[in-house]
Amino acid sequence: MLTDAIRIDVPSGGGTYPVLIGAGLSSQIASLQPELNLAHRSLIVTSAPVWRLHRGALRSIAASGKPLVIPDGERAKTLATVKRIYDALVTRHLDRSATVVAFGGGVVGDIAGFAAATYLRGLRLVHIPTTLLAQVDSSVGGKTGVNLTAGKNLVGAFHPPVLVVCDPLLLKSLPVREFRAGLYEVIKYGVIASRPLLDRVSTCLPAILEQDPDVLTPLIADCCRIKADVVGRDEREGGLRRILNFGHTIGHALEAITHYRRFRHGEAIAHGMIASARLSAARGLMSAEDEASIEEVIARVGRLPRVRDLRSSDALDVLSRDKKVVNGRLHFVLAHGIGKAVVVADVGAPELRAAMRSLGMRS
Ligand code: NAD
Repeated sequence: MLTDAIRIDVPSGGGTYPVLIGAGLSSQIASLQPELNLAHRSLIVTSAPVWRLHRGALRSIAASGKPLVIPDGERAKTLATVKRIYDALVTRHLDRSATVVAFGGGVVGDIAGFAAATYLRGLRLVHIPTTLLAQVDSSVGGKTGVNLTAGKNLVGAFHPPVLVVCDPLLLKSLPVREFRAGLYEVIKYGVIASRPLLDRVSTCLPAILEQDPDVLTPLIADCCRIKADVVGRDEREGGLRRILNFGHTIGHALEAITHYRRFRHGEAIAHGMIASARLSAARGLMSAEDEASIEEVIARVGRLPRVRDLRSSDALDVLSRDKKVVNGRLHFVLAHGIGKAVVVADVGAPELRAAMRSLGMRS
């Protein structure tokens, strides 16, 4: 392992798995855990943009055969794509000693992870996330899954990876909008778990947007530490893990009513965080200054897609079918000041409508 790589051990089921973070680390993948034998017993699953830009990074393991390049984007997150991965595993005679290497953003990670979870009742999985969102969020925690026509992530499995390698240099090629979308998730970690992290995003925003590795690498590590701590205590989302959904209830509804076309995931979450922070302040859980500082840092990251033409009633319809509804009650995450979050089950339609109207949505 590179001497300056950061290692975070994520507790999971019976053991732990390492998340390694360091500039240039992806090109060292073969030597990071030689026992995985990635050069001979693996299937790399990736998307065309990622493979075109970064195939060189995986040279040390690409000898194991051509990668499987799956269609790009959220619309590929289907069971049909999972079947293509199964077919590739069959064709290449890969058995239970093989490893699936997910090399891409959250979409590739979720699909390849689900295929790894289910093929032969479970293959080893290595994540090499290539978007900021995937590095700080989706590659850690073991959730995998695909969408159905009826909704997002409706089919899935918990399948922790054996290794996660976050290489901030891979993010250089990321479209600016994707990078900013991931940054909203970083802000989320600050709001729910660490005021110093939120302060750092605010103070160092120009260096973060320039992707200065000295600033970005520890920032990614801090997010992974927070996620590791939360999922280590509640891997299967029985309670605590729900705090990671701050901003996601309203965010998911915004994504759904715009048919997943208008917002990048993080952008929808940013709107959801603003609405949730306002709701938290209205309940007296956070001061007006803290609430304003959350809005301010979100605004400085960039302009969010509009919501003024959207109806809160359409969003409420979606929310009534949300996965976070348990026994008819919607679990909603509120910020308790900055650095702490609480999950409540008593946020009703009028409060939700008011929060969304405060974003400028129509009734
Ligand atoms: P994405 O995977 O669609 O990637 C965004 C775009 O960037 C794609 O076009 C991709 O090809 C491209 N790309 C990726 N890396 C690149 C790079 N280095 N350079 C240039 N282009 C690059 O989107 P995402 O935001 O990474 O992931 C969103 C998905 O993650 C959603 O499906 C969401 O449900 C899922 N997710 C899962 C979890 C989890 O815990 N499993 C958590 C959060 C989100």
